[in-house]
Amino acid sequence: ERSEPNYFGAGPAVLPTDVLQQAAYDLLSYEGDSVGIGEISHRSKPAIKVIDDTKANLTQLLNIPDTHEVFFMQGGGTTGFSSIVYNLIASNVKKTGKPGRAAYAVTGSWSKKSAEEAVRLGFDVDIVVNTKDKKFGDIPPYNEWKPLAADTAYLYVCDNETVNGTEFKSTPPADYLHEGVELVADMSSNILSKKVDVSKYGLIMAGAQKNIGLAGLTIYIIKKSLLEQANDEELKAANVPLVPIAFHYPTVVKNNSAYNTIPIFTCHILQLVTKRLIDNGGIDAIQKLNEKKAEILYGALTSYPGFYTLPVHNPAVRSNMNVVFTLPNEELEAKFVKEAASKGLSALKGHRSVGGMRASIYNAVSLHSVELLVDFVNEFAKQNA
Ligand code: PMP
Repeated sequence: ERSEPNYFGAGPAVLPTDVLQQAAYDLLSYEGDSVGIGEISHRSKPAIKVIDDTKANLTQLLNIPDTHEVFFMQGGGTTGFSSIVYNLIASNVKKTGKPGRAAYAVTGSWSKKSAEEAVRLGFDVDIVVNTKDKKFGDIPPYNEWKPLAADTAYLYVCDNETVNGTEFKSTPPADYLHEGVELVADMSSNILSKKVDVSKYGLIMAGAQKNIGLAGLTIYIIKKSLLEQANDEELKAANVPLVPIAFHYPTVVKNNSAYNTIPIFTCHILQLVTKRLIDNGGIDAIQKLNEKKAEILYGALTSYPGFYTLPVHNPAVRSNMNVVFTLPNEELEAKFVKEAASKGLSALKGHRSVGGMRASIYNAVSLHSVELLVDFVNEFAKQNA
């Protein structure tokens, strides 16, 4: 039992209470068994059913076409930063005989980290856009991005920058993303928050612990053709590093996400969260709710222009998940956080790298919680402006 939290943390984040209650029960005893879901073999029938059901739920919710495959891996977003470049370059060697280049859009601190990892691992990387000198407060239009090199294997974007509060509202047009270049997106902080045309992506990667689950499991949705990779001999001949086996996508897929021990309890949580989303009207319903939450919160903040400042100046790219704002000085910011907490509105402090405030309003943050925050935003401005 717990009373409904009004918790705005960026991740790990709140999950629906009824999901946690069911999961707590299943942790002790799963479907009448003498042991719980975390204690059974990852190759047992009930565990395989958890994996298959979760895949089916995701396929239904995101309308994933037959051309794509869903799989899960241990780890988080950072594991994705490393695994993506190894795997997609190995696919490109199969396709073209050469490693080719990896293009990255650096629009915030997570895409920056991912690009840095690809460089660190020794791959050829082009940064096609970098908004660091604009403090990651905008996403420039595609016609301002550096054109992709002819031998580009993939273009990487972070669909929602959790720290900086920007979100892509469109995918690159065909005159930018030319034929043969795969679009890769990190959706760790907005997966299942909105409709996505999966067919446009070569790969979608998302750590579960923000919008839809617990830490420890990452979702991958991959175009099946990218599972065809150069083998070890071919990679060696092309002077390309081999893919570490625990995150070799074709091996993981061949073993239905259980090549090694999948955290099945974490997957079960994802199964329950996705089932609940389906029962509550699917992606359309949650998208509408998320848009409404973001609209009322940004609406309140922008009605006190001298008091609240939105570092993401361009309303068209403001995140519907992570609402970042600042106050005129640090004393007022500290006061805001403290008074909000005293009203039960918690975890509103911004990321240590950017300061200010951040309200993360993921799927499981209720409209009621956001309405309480909106009331507080109004009240605080009236008393302190
Ligand atoms: N990508 C994004 C968009 C994130 O928000 C985060 C987590 N804060 C990460 C990647 C890194 O995730 P992890 O801590 O699971 O490695």
